[in-house]
Amino acid sequence: TPERQGKVNEAEVFREGALVAVLTTQPLGRLLDYKAPEGGCRLGAFVEVPLGPRKVLGVVWGPGKGDYDLARVRSVIRVLDVAPMLEEMRQFLSRAADYTLTPMPAMLRLATRAPGLSDPPSMRKVYRRGTAEPTRLTDARRRVLEVLADYGSLAFTLKELAEMAGVTPSVVKGMVAQGAVREEASPRDLPFPPLDHTRPGKSLTADQQAAAGHLRAGLAGGGYGTTLLKGVTGSGKTEVYLEAVAACLAEGRQALVLLPEIALTAEFLTRVEARFGARPAEWHSGVTMTERRRVWKMTGQGQAQLVVGARSALFLPFRALGLVIVDEEHDTSYKQEDGVLYNARDMAVLRAAICGARVVLASATPSLESWANAQSGKYELLELSARFGAAVLPEMAAIDMRAERMQAGTWISPTLRDAVATRLKRGEQSLLFINRRGFAPVTLCRACGQQIACAQCDARMVEHRFLKRLMCHQCGETTPIPTVCPSCGAEDRLAPVGPGVERLGEEAAALFPEARIAVLSSDLFGSARALKAAIEGIAAGEADVIIGTQLVAKGHNFPLLTLVGVIDADLGLQGSDLRAAERTFQLMRQVAGRAGRAEKPGTALLQTYQPEHPVIRAILSGDEEGFWRAEAAEREAAGVPPFGRMAGVILSGPDVAQVFDLGNTLARNDGALRAVGAQVFGPAPAPISRIRGRHRVRLLVKAPKGVALQEALARWIAPVRLKGDLRLSVDIDPQSF
Ligand code: ADP
Ligand code: ZN
Repeated sequence: TPERQGKVNEAEVFREGALVAVLTTQPLGRLLDYKAPEGGCRLGAFVEVPLGPRKVLGVVWGPGKGDYDLARVRSVIRVLDVAPMLEEMRQFLSRAADYTLTPMPAMLRLATRAPGLSDPPSMRKVYRRGTAEPTRLTDARRRVLEVLADYGSLAFTLKELAEMAGVTPSVVKGMVAQGAVREEASPRDLPFPPLDHTRPGKSLTADQQAAAGHLRAGLAGGGYGTTLLKGVTGSGKTEVYLEAVAACLAEGRQALVLLPEIALTAEFLTRVEARFGARPAEWHSGVTMTERRRVWKMTGQGQAQLVVGARSALFLPFRALGLVIVDEEHDTSYKQEDGVLYNARDMAVLRAAICGARVVLASATPSLESWANAQSGKYELLELSARFGAAVLPEMAAIDMRAERMQAGTWISPTLRDAVATRLKRGEQSLLFINRRGFAPVTLCRACGQQIACAQCDARMVEHRFLKRLMCHQCGETTPIPTVCPSCGAEDRLAPVGPGVERLGEEAAALFPEARIAVLSSDLFGSARALKAAIEGIAAGEADVIIGTQLVAKGHNFPLLTLVGVIDADLGLQGSDLRAAERTFQLMRQVAGRAGRAEKPGTALLQTYQPEHPVIRAILSGDEEGFWRAEAAEREAAGVPPFGRMAGVILSGPDVAQVFDLGNTLARNDGALRAVGAQVFGPAPAPISRIRGRHRVRLLVKAPKGVALQEALARWIAPVRLKGDLRLSVDIDPQSF
């Protein structure tokens, strides 16, 4: 709010020449001292400072230490024209750095991911043709007019326009004074249209009203608190948390909604527009540079009331954050697996706790962590029990694949085929789900028996017939589909093995020649817009049979869909991953939840070779409580999260022996860990054991709850000196263990 912005604390102002300590985005071990520039600067100010021959971005972090040669201390170049970083944001970055064991410069980089942040104000104006004629048409002025006429609809920055016309910027400025050129604020500096929180929402059911009332009360009460909003798909969780957003906006505070998938934002933005009369700010990798800069700046000025985005939106410079929604909170994509390894759900709670905001975690199938926190009373639990309107939960049944007569190379059982045929007759939609992109997961040579593998990774190459290439799902490398075996040279003996979404599409087309078949997989669409169009087409009934990957499991609304067939319900159950059961349970329930959203009841059929498996039985019976309790008991006995603490230390390098050597040295010198009762396991090959030519090895550290794990880890790895190309990264709460 403006008062918060306007308040200047004298203690936070550094006069010209005073020493300030600056945190930069450069990987340095410490803060650097500079002299405050002409006009002074404030604590938290974004500044540009000299570093060697370069200019780098930084934030004034506190008074300078003055512990080295004062004569050599350089001056801050300038203070950037953006709102200073708030104390709460500085605290958030520090605590997040401590939690994830990430150096502060990397945290600052996360918080300043807006291109053009350090552009001077002159670059943030654009120039177009004005209405007046220049008073005297010099050559220079004529060239400016020509450029503007040639590129009619484009707007130029001062620098661009002057360069293209071959004139000095002062010529353009002079023409502005005459009205021959018009100067306007760049679109990246335009504020967002206000959202109207007084517009009425949908009239809520009694259940929904009770939940919305709780959330509103929580916001009115002020202060931090986390609520787990649990309800089956279609129960109206979104309607309910939009009420909380309205309450937050009414208080003049900002709200943030995190979604797990870019493909979901378009539908959500439309919903927000219908509810509040305008579109909110959008923040994710698909947003243009100009727009990112705008969202960053407006968030910092408090002029973006609502931001809808991906996990990195948590690091935007909100002025007055009042509410964070984490939709589909169990989704594994909230875990950033590259660079700074953080879980957006945990970071949302941390940020909210620091700035006194509320958090709503929404899910039909909460993570075991959140479920346990709700059980222990750390989080408030709100449940929506019924689906909205006539929609009822789908009936679930297993198809016992041991009893089905399957032809080699086919994956749709006769029972599932008949169920689809029935829907086709009734004009209803069916969804066949398989969580495998591409045509076939394995390409095998029939002559030598070798599988085609990625040269850089420990992964198979997956055939993508649509792209006409083989692709590595780990590094993204693609190659043409060979006709000759790379191992033995045999010709035309390569064969696809196993099902992928594209191959299933072919099988369905052969089984149901009269049906309209849509294959939905992220890699089949060139852009988010094409994907959105495909999804809208399906929702409008333009397909009879939908073949899809994980992508369709999340959030989309297909009202005509009444049958979901899961091709391989056993897929997630293999392997030694302790979270496998939880993930399979969540995914299967989510997929099944796609069926029967409107008036027509739905059915979900799971093809499985192990119908007696406890996880499959829990999915079928819908006994969530029972499932969570059994899972919790198992994890508690094993002392793993959320009942114990866990961290991974990943070492990587081009030479596998060297990586293992370092791992073994660390494992032997585990005194710092043993001192707090923590144990180290490994080194063992990491879940991704080789990627882009780098070998990866992991040490797993397990500790009892309540142990200061990060401090022990920091002491443990402190002596490590990484030679050559070796890298070390810490992963707190790894996804798989
Ligand atoms: P969830 O987020 O739990 O999946 P949604 O909020 O998306 O559920 O609701 C599912 C569908 O039902 C949406 O189309 C939504 O607009 C509609 N809906 C939910 N509650 C109501 C209500 N009280 N009045 C009218 N429509 C509703
Ligand atoms: Zn690869």
